Amino acid sequence: MGIEPCGVCGGDGQMTNSFGNSARCPSCHGTGRRSDDGGMRDVTKTKPSHHRQPSRADAAPKQQWPSTFEGEQLAIQVRDCPSVSAETKAKLTLEIIEHESTHGRCTETFLKKIRKQVRPATG
Ligand SMILES: [Zn+2]
Repeated sequence: MGIEPCGVCGGDGQMTNSFGNSARCPSCHGTGRRSDDGGMRDVTKTKPSHHRQPSRADAAPKQQWPSTFEGEQLAIQVRDCPSVSAETKAKLTLEIIEHESTHGRCTETFLKKIRKQVRPATG
């Protein structure tokens, strides 16, 4: 396998751009040698990992937030309520999520029931 000069810069390893500045050749990265295989290795090395799938049940985080619009609004009310403890908030939010998974959505009765707990009694 012989060493061939870079076809882009002609083996200089440098290129002169339109501003008159010389820059490193983007093809051979300044080595002046043709590197057909070198570039390929880099691509496989930096393979993106965004295709990871959360297939393992234990790796998936437990749902901590409602998935329906009503449930989310309710959960925000709970979260922003200054008169209940963090423990109660967590409990109510969990209740919303569980209600959603059972009923598919939040029923009016359920919304009222939760709201009553996060709203200060005004009489
Ligand atoms: Zn070159």
